[in-house]
Amino acid sequence: MDLTKGQPYLAIPGPSVMPEAVLRAMHRGAPNIYEGELIDLTYGVLSDLKIVAGTVHNAAIYIGNGHAAWEAALSNVLSPGDKVLVPAAGAFGHGWSEMAAGLGAQCDVLDFGRRAPIAAEVVAEALRNDPTHEIKAVLAVHVDTSTSAKSDIAALRSALDATGHPALLMVDCIASFGCDRFEMDRWGVDVMVAACQKGLMVPPGVAFVFFNEQAAKRRSEIERVSRYWDWQPRANPELYYQLFCGTAPTHHIYGLRVALDMILAEGLNNVWLRHETLAKAIWAAVEVWSSEGPLELNIADPDARSHAVTSLRVGKEHGTRLRRWCQDQAGLTLGIGLGMATEEDPNSDGFFRFGHMGHVNAQMIMGLLATVQSGLIALDIPHGSGAIEAAARVIAAR
Ligand SMILES: *Cc1c(COP(=O)(O)O)cnc(C)c1O
Repeated sequence: MDLTKGQPYLAIPGPSVMPEAVLRAMHRGAPNIYEGELIDLTYGVLSDLKIVAGTVHNAAIYIGNGHAAWEAALSNVLSPGDKVLVPAAGAFGHGWSEMAAGLGAQCDVLDFGRRAPIAAEVVAEALRNDPTHEIKAVLAVHVDTSTSAKSDIAALRSALDATGHPALLMVDCIASFGCDRFEMDRWGVDVMVAACQKGLMVPPGVAFVFFNEQAAKRRSEIERVSRYWDWQPRANPELYYQLFCGTAPTHHIYGLRVALDMILAEGLNNVWLRHETLAKAIWAAVEVWSSEGPLELNIADPDARSHAVTSLRVGKEHGTRLRRWCQDQAGLTLGIGLGMATEEDPNSDGFFRFGHMGHVNAQMIMGLLATVQSGLIALDIPHGSGAIEAAARVIAAR
């Protein structure tokens, strides 16, 4: 007997589940890239992306993944030798820092470990210790997808403002875009990067950089920016092809149009609230499991937990085994532990993650939780009982 037949659920934190409507919109012949529908569609997509980002300033699109967005953003504000401050709350913070180092920046990393968000005061203190303003930018990840730590970006901005330091605040929202509340202009973020394959429910391949006037000014002051990464012609194109520095990602634009229509029809606040409620159902279940046995949430403080991804610890002997059971026996693919390696657990076997971003609803999350429950029973991993009931209460009380 095979219990995996039926609709599978890829519950990894990106690429995320894609709606049929998005896939259908992309299933078509090549459109004309010189005139017609595609052109208008692209400008509409750009302005709707700004709504999701919470900005009235600039948006640049790139053909590329999240790493491309990292490099694009950095390329417009840094010259080789510039210093950046990187508060890291997981592997993606360190990854962005490595990208900056690759462009010749000097990176000061503030490591907040793997179980806590960025502490704004510690970042502010580091800026106070830079009276000559060597530090050009602070690179912060909103939701670090490895640890599932969510940092308070508004608090970080206030702490930075209190220092009077002019460093730009640059934020990676790749995991949180369209999932966790984020308000670029209101929170005073200068540069924000995102990508399309997580909350936006579109296959990987397109990434975004949003930037305000402070960041645009910085761009105009630096000596040179590589032609491909330069955000200036992309954000202010005189001709359509400048938007992408070449051929447009034609099918992604059709997919994005439908995905943005879905988000705006639901309402951005409702999208955030849906993710929050589903995340709370997950936490309720895991807290019950944790009451006996080795399973626990990686982030203890609920305010510092992502609503789009949840990292769990279960002990080296159980994590990979549980993940395999869910996939091989039930058609549920969970995320691997990422960036959690230690000497005694070099492959992060004691960790796994739930991706719950984008096109997810209550029945999918309840199915996910009940499947993990089945795996815990099948593999004889000790756990508290009543987890599904606890999650159901969250859903019922909505
Ligand atoms: C997924 C992710 C990235 C990297 O995106 P890729 O598309 O894999 O290059 C960077 N930062 C965060 C927070 C992410 O979740």
